[in-house]
Amino acid sequence: MQKKIKSALISVFYKDGLEPIVKELDRLGVTIYSTGGTQKFIENLGIKCIPVEDLTTYPSILGGRVKILHPAVFGGILGRRDLEEDRAEMAKYNIPEIDLVIIDLYPFEETLKSTDDEAAIIEKIDIGGPSAIRAAAKNFKDEVVLASRDEYTWLLKVLQEQDGETSLEERKAFAAKSFEVVMNYDIAINNFFNGTILQPLTNKKVLRYGENPDQKAAFYGDLDEDFEKLNGKELSYNNLVDVDSAMALIKDFKDEKDVVFGIIKHTNVCGVAVRPTVKEAYDAADAGDPESAFGGILICSGTIDKVTAEKIQEVFFEVLIAADFDADALDVLKAKKNRILLKLKPNNKENNVQFKSVLNGVLVQDTDQGNYTEWKEVGGRETTAEEKAALSFANIICKHLKSNAIALVKDRQLIGKGCGQTSRVDALRQAIAKAEQFNFDLKDAVLASDAFFPFNDCVKLAHEAGITSFIQPGGSIRDKDSIEYCVENNLPMVLTGKRHFRHG
Ligand code: 5GP
Repeated sequence: MQKKIKSALISVFYKDGLEPIVKELDRLGVTIYSTGGTQKFIENLGIKCIPVEDLTTYPSILGGRVKILHPAVFGGILGRRDLEEDRAEMAKYNIPEIDLVIIDLYPFEETLKSTDDEAAIIEKIDIGGPSAIRAAAKNFKDEVVLASRDEYTWLLKVLQEQDGETSLEERKAFAAKSFEVVMNYDIAINNFFNGTILQPLTNKKVLRYGENPDQKAAFYGDLDEDFEKLNGKELSYNNLVDVDSAMALIKDFKDEKDVVFGIIKHTNVCGVAVRPTVKEAYDAADAGDPESAFGGILICSGTIDKVTAEKIQEVFFEVLIAADFDADALDVLKAKKNRILLKLKPNNKENNVQFKSVLNGVLVQDTDQGNYTEWKEVGGRETTAEEKAALSFANIICKHLKSNAIALVKDRQLIGKGCGQTSRVDALRQAIAKAEQFNFDLKDAVLASDAFFPFNDCVKLAHEAGITSFIQPGGSIRDKDSIEYCVENNLPMVLTGKRHFRHG
């Protein structure tokens, strides 16, 4: 059913963007009701505006805590125009119909970011605004609600091109958006009171499909906060999952001075290396498992130069993320139109919470932060500086492999990995096989395990393959079995005190 806007309640915190709307409302002869600051803004434009106090018969009280909270206002918003009884009551109590509600809420999240002053934060919990939004959204059959400045462009079109007339579908769509705004507002308040446990579901982007083509999917989030997209098609569901893993990997190397290059496949690291130059780092990462790298996601902490771009161009990769790209490297990479190139923004967001749906419920946990809580040498001898660097590197990497995970490292290059195995020994067998497949000499390589060794079978098997140093969390009641093996064979073993399970 078409409805024409004849009256409006406007109460906005930020006044920008409002001027053309108010001018259009005025042109259409719409009666405007407004609150203190907004009223002044409108009147300064030379446009007539009725103070909301004229409806409520009260001034704004309690420092603005109570402005529009009054039956004369809420009756005007909630009254059902097609209901005889509602119309009679509205007439009896002199309540005018309100056909359009425009609210821009107190900036709660912004305030939270700018101050620690609890009283100031609490004061920015808007009360009247969300109530009016909910009321207007509930009564979408009769009125239009705008709960965000993002929708001003749409409203302007309605006023300019449709003379203020809206369809039921349009009004319902805006009601739906408004409930989303209020929900996210309340999530932010909830997180403040209860610790961050929920993410607001904003910026919905429908994806082409989910993990498989017959699965519908959407992404709620803002990639622009983390990346500048320089080339390529839309990121798919699977791309997003892998990009998330790539970002987690690079963040674990944030203090590294040399260049880090990582290759991610199905959320697992399949190649990673740290080298003085981008080209060396890429070559070493790729050499770790060139077979798996095909179709992967690349991430680099440095600036992609032309030589590296030319090398990358030879292989099929879906996404390349880097701190930066030289102009001539971009020319090379952009030759493949679909390839997604993402430039990392310097202050990309920390990801502290993780969600997963299970059994129609949601699991929430902190992300696995940090790498080890202690460095306890329990083997046959102390680690050398070189071994220490390799072990610490391997320990980071096995955190980015699905459990059970084993990472084999030499010279800050991943040379073999076993992941997603149901037994740790299988993970080790897979890691050794991978290293041998690509002709790595395992002599003096180091091994990291995501969780403890319940038996000495892993260290024994690894030692027989040439591996000489080990890092693992410890914590098994049978830790001593592997420790004794290392002591007897004069091999270093480090206990970190921190497990890195990743069950997917
Ligand atoms: P103004 O600048 O017009 O004086 O105030 C606009 C702001 O006040 C908007 O952000 C609006 O959501 C908020 N607001 C309007 N009515 C009420 C109310 O009754 N209580 C509270 N706490 N906020 C209100």
